[in-house]
Order: sequence, then C-alpha cells, then structure tokens
Amino acid sequence: MVRTRFAPSPTGFVHIGSLRTALFSFLFARHHGGQHVLRVEDTDQNRLVEGALENLVHVMNQMGIEFDEGFYVTDDGSIKERGGHGPYLQSKRLEIYQKYAKQLMDEGKAYYCFCSEERLEELRKEQTALKKPPMYDRHCKKLSADEIKSKIEEFSAKGGSASGGKSAGKRPVIRFAIPNEGQTVIHDLIYGDITYENKVLDDQVIIKSDGFPTYHLAVVVDDHLMEITHVIRGEEWLPSTPKHILIYQALGWQPTQFAHLPLILNPDKSKLSKRQGDVAVEDFLKKGYLKEALINFVAFLGWNPKTEQEIFSLNDLIAQFDLAKINKSGAVFDLNKLDWINGQYIKLKTDAALAELLKPYWQEYGTKTEKFSGAFLTAIAALEKERLKKLSEIGERTAYFFKAPDYAPELLVWKKSDKEKTKSVLSDLLELFKNLPEADYAKEKLELAIKKFIVDKNYDNGSVLWPFRVAITGLEKSPGPFEAAAVLALGLGKTEILQRIETAIKKLS
Ligand code: GLU
Repeated sequence: MVRTRFAPSPTGFVHIGSLRTALFSFLFARHHGGQHVLRVEDTDQNRLVEGALENLVHVMNQMGIEFDEGFYVTDDGSIKERGGHGPYLQSKRLEIYQKYAKQLMDEGKAYYCFCSEERLEELRKEQTALKKPPMYDRHCKKLSADEIKSKIEEFSAKGGSASGGKSAGKRPVIRFAIPNEGQTVIHDLIYGDITYENKVLDDQVIIKSDGFPTYHLAVVVDDHLMEITHVIRGEEWLPSTPKHILIYQALGWQPTQFAHLPLILNPDKSKLSKRQGDVAVEDFLKKGYLKEALINFVAFLGWNPKTEQEIFSLNDLIAQFDLAKINKSGAVFDLNKLDWINGQYIKLKTDAALAELLKPYWQEYGTKTEKFSGAFLTAIAALEKERLKKLSEIGERTAYFFKAPDYAPELLVWKKSDKEKTKSVLSDLLELFKNLPEADYAKEKLELAIKKFIVDKNYDNGSVLWPFRVAITGLEKSPGPFEAAAVLALGLGKTEILQRIETAIKKLS
C-alpha cells in the first residue's frame, strides 16, 4: 500500500510551494489507491508561530487536500488528530527520537559533541578562509570514554541546563557519525541516481542541546514508523537525503523511495520568494483566486500531462498524475497563467454561483450587497463574467452600479463630437427615456429603441452611444451601453437612468 506524507513545519503562512508538495503527495497517494498522512514537524522550537498549525490544516482542508491520518478539521471547525501512527506532532514524540538516538550511541553510530558555539564558529571561519566547505571536524568523536564521562559529570555538577548559560555547562548535542568512506546513492524517482561521497557529508547533529531531535533524525524515524513508502518533497531537501539514507541504514531500516520536486522560480529565474510578491496560499485566496484554479495552476508547477489539456479538476489530476511527467528543471511561476486559469474557472460558474462568490469581495469594497436584489447581483456577475480574472477586481469594476459615478465632464464627449452636440444628444436621449415604459429597459428592447432613435434623429452611433455609456458607467472602458443600462435599470429602476443622464447634462452646462 502506497503511503505518502506531507510534513510541514508550522512556521506561518502556507507557501505556494508547500501547497504544491502537499498536492503532489496527495495526488500520488490517491492515484495509487494509497493513504496520505499529515505530520507536523515542530522540532525547531525557535521558529514556531502561534496558530500556524491550525491555519495550515484549515488551508489544506479548504483546498480539498485530504489526509487519512494526522490533523484534520472537524465538522465544528476545530482541529483534531486521527490515525494509528500518532502522535503526528513531532514535539509529542521526543521519547521516540531519544530511544533511537540512544540505540545509535550504543552501537557507536552516534556520539556526544561538547563543542561550544564559539569553537564551531572559529572552525567555520578557518574553513571558509581556506575555501573549504564548512564541516564539523569530528573533534568530539575522538574523545575517550573517560573524557566523555568527566565532561558529562562536569555538566551535571554545574547544574547544567539545556541552554547552557554562564555558570552552567551546556548539555551536549548528539551527532550522527557518517562513515568516513564509501558512497551513498539516492535513487530519486525524478532526478534518477545521484551518488554522494560519504566523506563530503557532515556529521549531522541529531539531538540538540534542548533534547529535541533535529529534522534529520525525526524525519527518518517518523517516515519509518509511519510506514511511509514514498517521500515527495522539494528539491531543497535533496542534499539532506544521503544523510537520511545513512541514518536509515544505521538503524537497520529500509529507506523510503524519494521524489524531489523541482524548484519554483520567478519569471526572472530567481527562486520564488516573499520579496517578489505574494507566495502565501492565503493571499491568493483573499485576492479571489478560486481554489480549483489554484490547484490546477499549482499542479502545473513542474508537472506536465504532455497533452493539450490545461483545465484539470482535482479528480482529473488524481487520474492522470504520474511522477514520470515531472520535469527536473525549475518550474516558472507565471501569474499571467494563473490569471488565465482563474478566468476559465470563473466562466465555468453559473451567474448565480458567481454572484454568491463575489459577495464578500463587494462587501470588502464597501458595497452593502444586502441592500440589493439577488437578481441585480446575478445580472452584474453575468455581465462581468467573461472579463473577470480575480474576484477581488469586482468592487472597483462594478462600483458604478451601486453608486452614481463621478467622472470628468470631458469624458462624455466622443472624439468626433463636441460639448454642445453631446449636450443636445443627451437632452434628446433624456426625452426618449422619459417616454420609454419601465418594461422596455430590458437589453434588447432598449437597444432597438436607441438604434431607432439614432436613425430618426440622423445621429451617428458614436456621438450617442459614447456619452450614453459614460453617463451610466462614468468609465472610459466598461461593458456596452445597452447591457450596462439594462442591468442598472433592473437593479435601481428607470429613475436611476434618467437621473444619470440629467447629471451628465448638468456636467456639460
Ligand atoms: N519539515 C520539512 C519542511 O518544512 C519537511 C521536509 C520533508 O518533507 O522531509 O519542509
């Protein structure tokens, strides 16, 4: 049975890259009828952010990424844990890591390290000056049993604490002893075989002085005990993988399979980072990207179905997902593509469903949607549907429907007309509208009436339709005059149209 896991650290918002990792591990598990586990890696206590775990679980839930084990959102919105391999929060598993660290110590595969931060810093400086990669020099590996004993006694006598401090000694860390020779090969499902010389690998700390494991020990122990078969994670973890494989071997375990996902890049090929704009899933949702569109977009960050199909539902993705179709080269994060995909998903919504989705965005813009009829909101949604790229654009784009627009008088004058002519056209139009029954304000009838008016009065289209549209919308670019006026009349009645034309005439006087 395939078992994959998503193993985030709860350090704040959910990065779009984390969403991709979670999605791919979910797709892979489901494609193979397997299970998906959510494990939270909180061993770096300095980087924890209050509420990050809850936020993460909610975002995953919102995006439709399911977990069979680990944390989940209950019907009442609270977060609970389930599954037979828990606890799923690493800080609740400290004894487990201690046990395996002890086993490695007992077998001579790990050792205490008493080196101070100062010594390690000195060492790093020396190595950097010599243009060597900074690495621990295995100083403490050479300590005799007696030396170790006396250092431990010294630590206890000083009433040593985890953090050290001036008087107290610092509790030693435990380092994993990497074999001095030989090679370690990663059989990566995406990158193929990668061979590392063991001698270039650092003797990684596996238990810190606060008694917590480092990521390297915890990830191996948990992936093994949680019976994970495939680790799918970002390429930035590739250099850690040989160390993980060596820890698996030292513990006498079979390593999982590994699949590392290509980096996500900005269009300028730099690594996607917060500095270049939004990278938090929460921000994208807030801006009005639909979750289906985000999932569809993120699926293409590195994966390519190798067909023409561009729109994929989550179920389509599950059916077609294949690690063999993941590229090795970086995946460019192209916001234009996201906008395009989002536009496609917006078009797929019914008008009423879209209006419902738009309500919070109207509210945020200050439009009190409860004051207007559902039919009016739906008609506006229908009008904007083809053009809308993000839901958050709606407030500004449609403000004129809810409140008479303010605009410069010059905007009313069509390029081939002038102020006086515009004024008289608008006065004639006002007469026409006054005599037009409310029922004739539906788009087609309105269009017929105005077109007839243009012919009867011997006007040209532009000198009528331009000022009419501006009087209604106050915008240089907007939906067409008949559509906009019909929707406005539907929502606010004929009088609103008359008023807007009167305002336009006044502006020109
Ligand atoms: N906790 C690591 C992270 O935050 C997980 C890396 C892994 O999947 O092994 O990305």
